[in-house]
Amino acid sequence: MNPNPISQGHSSPSRSTAEYQALDAAHHIHPFSDTAALNAYGSRVITHAEGIYLYDSEGNKIFDAMSGLWCVNIGYGRQELAEAAYQQMLQLPFYNTFFKTTHPPVIELSSLLAQVAPEGFNHVFYTNSGSEGNDTIIRMVRHYWALLGQPQKKTIIARENGYHGSTIGGASLGGMHYMHEQGDLPIPGIAHIEQPYWYANGGELSPKEYGLKAARALEQKILELGVENVAAFIGEPVQGAGGIIIPPSTYWPEIQRICDHYGILLIADEVICGFGRTGSWFGSQHYGIRPHLMTIAKGLSSGYIPIGGVLVHDTVAKVLIEGGDFNHGFTYSGHPVACAVAATNIRILQKERIIERMNEDVAPYAAQLWHDAFDQHPLVDDVRSLGFFFALTLVEDKASRKRFEHGSSMALRCRDICLKNQLVMRATGDSMIAAPPLVMTRAQAEEFVRLAKQCIDEYARELG
Ligand code: PLP
Repeated sequence: MNPNPISQGHSSPSRSTAEYQALDAAHHIHPFSDTAALNAYGSRVITHAEGIYLYDSEGNKIFDAMSGLWCVNIGYGRQELAEAAYQQMLQLPFYNTFFKTTHPPVIELSSLLAQVAPEGFNHVFYTNSGSEGNDTIIRMVRHYWALLGQPQKKTIIARENGYHGSTIGGASLGGMHYMHEQGDLPIPGIAHIEQPYWYANGGELSPKEYGLKAARALEQKILELGVENVAAFIGEPVQGAGGIIIPPSTYWPEIQRICDHYGILLIADEVICGFGRTGSWFGSQHYGIRPHLMTIAKGLSSGYIPIGGVLVHDTVAKVLIEGGDFNHGFTYSGHPVACAVAATNIRILQKERIIERMNEDVAPYAAQLWHDAFDQHPLVDDVRSLGFFFALTLVEDKASRKRFEHGSSMALRCRDICLKNQLVMRATGDSMIAAPPLVMTRAQAEEFVRLAKQCIDEYARELG
């Protein structure tokens, strides 16, 4: 028997790339993919990872500037997380928290979350994912208003191009039209307003003027629907999957004012922004937002294990807790192994001051490199960064902010060039986006920006 049950090394792949691809094509339907097209091409087989690098079955070393899917905040290969999962599996691999029971890992994680969350967030409801977190929020806010004697207050206002997950509720809250087209979404009780995307929608307004205008779309929508029908507003502090849309500085204060004025709940979807991405523990703190509910997932466990949840502010928690049964939950709500891993991840973030260090040192350095590399580049504009978010837009003409007609297919081509050069970035619309692990060092930031520049230059040459 292996005396050390957690292997220090990486076993070699047991099949050839071609064998893996053939089996994958035969049996696996990929998420958010044209599986037939993918099968014709063949998926890249990622076999292991260390730090901020992925390795594939062909032995390539790949710079993961997307932290997996915006989640591996502390980087790959941390033994402590594997150890926490292993020990918890031996101790208590599963028990539920439905029927008058609880267990140490869920208690420890809940109290840790109350420590790191903004003031007043002393309660958490657990899910397996961000999508389930947002579905939970739909049920929670409706229940909350019903308990307060206003059951007609049901509608949640969300934003165009927002991403809140892929379940029916999450996809409905999201503002992705290509998702709504499949399956007759959104469900009733969800309305959308414009996203705060100055570069695309700001016209002649300054970013500050436009930020106010975009926020006031919320006020117009509340008045149109009738405040007596509106339950809440939901937004990502920085829209992630929508293209790393960093709102103008005037946007969130005005959203906050409107929510306060009309007395509707404010929900921050922190699935990407939470646990350090913006340079603060939560994106809400970066913008001074005072939400009632926050969706969390991804960075909660650095993606090592599925877990998500809803952080509930005292004002809402009091009503829910005094309101009797809340008929909602998942078999794996507060799963002991997931909680043990998440708690270990948070302790690492705390102990190693990962967010603080990134914020004080590498984030400003990397931002400078990013802007130096791209601000004057003829193919790109709207070069943006915040914390460890990096993005740029491919443009036809910088001076007139003219965007390419087929910008999204161009960005996809650019993403493929990045992949060919062993750099994972993502294409969203006509933007190229990145969100590297928070443990990226200065030297790795230099490598990242050099690789990204090399790829954009290669694409510029290809376009002629
Ligand atoms: N909310 C936001 C802001 C997200 O970015 C995501 C996923 O990318 C989700 C919710 C959904 O999370 P999950 O994929 O864990 O269901």
